[in-house]
Amino acid sequence: MEASPAPRAWHGVGVGRAGAVGPVVHVRAVPNIPADTPVLIDGLSAGRWAIRNLVSEAFTTVSTRLRQRAVRSDARVRGVLESTAALADDRALRSEVLSRISAGDPPIAAIDAVIEGFASYLAVSDQYPAARVADLTAVRHRVVAEILGLPQPGVPELVEPCVVVAHELSTTDIAALNPEHVLAIVTELGSPTSHAAIVAGQFEVPCVVQATGVTALPEGVVVAVDASTGTVTLDPTQSEREVFEARRAAALRLDDDTRPGATSDGEPVALEANVAIALDAQRLVHSAVEGVGLYRTESLFLDRAAPPSIAEQQQAYSAVVRAMAGRPVTIRTVDGGADKPLAFLDQDESDNPALGLRGFRITQTNPEVLDQQLRALAATQIETGHPLRVMAPMIATPLEAREFAARVRGLGLAQVGVMVEVPSAALRAGQILDEVDFISIGTNDLAQYAMAADRMLGEFADLLNPWQPAVLDLVAMAARAGKERGKPVGVCGESAADPVMALVLVGLGVNSLSMTSGAIPAVRFALRHHSKRNTREIAQAAMAQRGPHDAKRAAVDLVAPEVRQALGV
Ligand code: PEP
Ligand code: MG
Repeated sequence: MEASPAPRAWHGVGVGRAGAVGPVVHVRAVPNIPADTPVLIDGLSAGRWAIRNLVSEAFTTVSTRLRQRAVRSDARVRGVLESTAALADDRALRSEVLSRISAGDPPIAAIDAVIEGFASYLAVSDQYPAARVADLTAVRHRVVAEILGLPQPGVPELVEPCVVVAHELSTTDIAALNPEHVLAIVTELGSPTSHAAIVAGQFEVPCVVQATGVTALPEGVVVAVDASTGTVTLDPTQSEREVFEARRAAALRLDDDTRPGATSDGEPVALEANVAIALDAQRLVHSAVEGVGLYRTESLFLDRAAPPSIAEQQQAYSAVVRAMAGRPVTIRTVDGGADKPLAFLDQDESDNPALGLRGFRITQTNPEVLDQQLRALAATQIETGHPLRVMAPMIATPLEAREFAARVRGLGLAQVGVMVEVPSAALRAGQILDEVDFISIGTNDLAQYAMAADRMLGEFADLLNPWQPAVLDLVAMAARAGKERGKPVGVCGESAADPVMALVLVGLGVNSLSMTSGAIPAVRFALRHHSKRNTREIAQAAMAQRGPHDAKRAAVDLVAPEVRQALGV
């Protein structure tokens, strides 16, 4: 029997419209190693003293490698690598592991017990203010791999531009990626609104999730990643590469228009950027972005044993405000829980974390986290002299909006808003708007909660599709409430980055769109080619359909031919 030919293309769900060609680099998953796994030296089980030496050397090797890598890395990644190396070097940690081994513990069990003890200590200690629980876990995985002679897990050093391939990317993996060397991100799991996809948008690189089988690709082979079709192709031909080049050139041409966002008849639609760290905003200093519509502040809080201090937060917020140099900045208070777990929150293990303590609800268990963040924001506003817009995630009721608004106004912050991500908030958007100055619709979560489909599960991509007419209904309700009260309504979910969807959102009455900055030129181009009335007709055509694919098709059919051609929609 003839063997079936090896696959040449893998299919998943594409995020964005860009494409890239480059060599594959794998982010290796942590091997599942039982705590009693024996450690062999030259293939033989070794005595306690030999094992002690081996383990001690493994700590040294891990820290030396991380330090060497830190020297070669950019500033953002350097900090993560240095703090992990410092823990691998920690004398107390190492000597506790060694004394447990001397007392007869199996080496991996000894490492696990000590790391666990340190993690609890970090949570209450101020001796290691910058250390993160994730750094400790990374030390554990690296030392264990080293003593067992396995490849180092996690993100390898990226020395040239490459396509990062992983089963799944954790927030910790993402923090260790050097954006300069990432051409594309491909994962076997994940969904278009999972963390990896959102970060890919921020890095302005194409992303394909749910690409089953890609982790079997050999390291270093060249692939083409096409986010517009969700395809990963091995060894692309010259003509396949040319299609990518042509698309890149067309995208560059759109960059020349730096006018503010508006419809062809002059209705303004602010086009703003989503950012996660100060560096994202600093990259936009010279761009035509009209402001920051969503600053996701979680990156400051993730993987930490304790929340960042007020001073550290103020420094990060000021950096974003200064980079925007007078343009509006909307800062979202920390959205902990569910897909953005925070180690220091008092959260019980819940079967349904997305329906549990997350977003604004964490004030129930950890009120100090929001208090301190708001104080840091108030201090930032005074320091920079720039009026801030502050909004809360996961607001479900008008009373929650009132409570948040009272806290924000009590500190003198300029504008208060909330995100509309829960269907109840869209249904009651009018009463919510009576409490706040603006709302911003988070379509990623709105789709998850409207369709009862976990946004982390790629197999529900169809239900999570923001073109679902029911999701559009909720957006329309919120936009109508804003119009009735003369208050601004924005969209900051990933759907705002789709130029055809942007037309629909504007047609429904949305006044501003915030997205990954790389998507702004195409959205600006689409808006500039349609009048306000055109956008209303496009929105109505989409809303009249029964499913997401028909809704998109009905919208695309009404898009101006020159836009369809230029953007390839
Ligand atoms: C959203 O839910 O649409 C949103 C913008 O918030 P996040 O993706 O950070 O949950
Ligand atoms: Mg959200």
